Amino acid sequence: MPEHYIESAASDPVTAERLERVDSVRKKLEKNGRTGENAPKYFIQTFGCQQNEADSERLAGLCAAMGYVRTDRPDEAQLILVNTCAVREHAEKKALSIIGGYKHIKDKNPDVVIGVGGCMVTQKARADKLRNSYPYVSFTFDTGAVDRVPELVLGALDGGKRAFVLSEEFKIAEGIPIRRESKHMAWLSIMYGCNNFCSYCIVPYVRGRERSRSAGAILEEAKALIADGARDITLLGQNVNSYDGGTVGGTRIDIAELMHRICALDGDFRLRFMTSHPKDASDRLIEAMASEDKVAKHFHLPVQSGSDRILAAMNRRYTADAYYEKIEKIRAAVPDVSLTSDIIVGFPGETEEDFEDTLAMMEKARYDMVFSFIYSPRAGTPAASMPDQIPREISSERMERLLALGAKIADERNERFVGRELRVLAEGVSKNDPAMLTGRGDPVRPIHFAADRSRIGQFVNVTITGAKTYCLEGEPAPRQD
Ligand code: SF4
Repeated sequence: MPEHYIESAASDPVTAERLERVDSVRKKLEKNGRTGENAPKYFIQTFGCQQNEADSERLAGLCAAMGYVRTDRPDEAQLILVNTCAVREHAEKKALSIIGGYKHIKDKNPDVVIGVGGCMVTQKARADKLRNSYPYVSFTFDTGAVDRVPELVLGALDGGKRAFVLSEEFKIAEGIPIRRESKHMAWLSIMYGCNNFCSYCIVPYVRGRERSRSAGAILEEAKALIADGARDITLLGQNVNSYDGGTVGGTRIDIAELMHRICALDGDFRLRFMTSHPKDASDRLIEAMASEDKVAKHFHLPVQSGSDRILAAMNRRYTADAYYEKIEKIRAAVPDVSLTSDIIVGFPGETEEDFEDTLAMMEKARYDMVFSFIYSPRAGTPAASMPDQIPREISSERMERLLALGAKIADERNERFVGRELRVLAEGVSKNDPAMLTGRGDPVRPIHFAADRSRIGQFVNVTITGAKTYCLEGEPAPRQD
């Protein structure tokens, strides 16, 4: 099992003290002879977005540092952690169902420690449900308490009381070890939380207000990632456009300046960012994408709706025209940009006319890919109590029309790559054909091409020979740099 660790020092005394429990757990396991081949195993189940995936890599780093060894089978784990999502009801139901299934594991092995974290249990009602209806869950921890996991594990191993952590404030905990899933691709969190309060979204309630990591800590982590072999780095945050690294040496460190500084680091790598709020996507950010060779020419700019009436009800704070002007600016600066978006179908009050405005925006914007979702009411958000909730059958019918249009436009957009040469990071072996590798270039589609496995982790110049809706196909170009 590859181990890709990134370690940095805890920058505040509270985090440093909490991380001391890592050693306490390790020593306890050693004392009980649970080391080497006898080491206990951990299993992490992750739901939701890239931020949760990044958090799970920190949980994995903590588990490994405590002396646990990874397994992909929950039934052979002594420590099971579930990292939950709250953005849609479906994700919560699925997590609860999976946690329910772990009762059998606990029945068979009462020593198993089960912890549940993430956005779902940051809502008190959900944490209470786990406390009352899932007595075999040892502890829950909210999104601001990842650094408390060692203390919670230690408490459970010592036979202490069950614990349900809801932080009073969300702070940034530096110094948590990270065990990355991929050697070549890396998430790099630059900020946490959100101040926007879109009326349908639970994120500001479960991840707190915006707080940015220091540019110094981010640059150190970026350097370590590159040295460890990362070739595709995605800067992560709920709204990376409002990254605020303060003023250093008279220079304001916004997302654009941060990207310039990361691009100035030695090494052959590609830089991405996710996610952007259209109202905050600045000219400076667009300029950074246009001027820096290392920045992937891919802009994810969620529109959510093409109707001004619905955008206002969503509290998105832009109009369809203002959004489209932003796209025009991006395309003027980066003509071949791959543009992707998120769209919500069936927001409360959405009429057929509103929905047609969304289809019209798709026709105009010509997205390379659209991530579309049927609106899911989230308790505690303003939209959940709005009148005129849309019946499921209407939302589903609209969704089908949206998907068909999205696929048609994506097909047409993909055709432009055929015959061209793209620089592709070979990520791994294709799932469908072991003779092929799969990778990513600037376009968001996976690119499949025949090449030797020794190229995995390297950039390969690929001539695109065919385009499908969901992928591109190609072959290594005669000239490789
Ligand atoms: S910008 Fe809106 S949709 Fe995105 S995380 Fe913040 S509140 Fe949610």
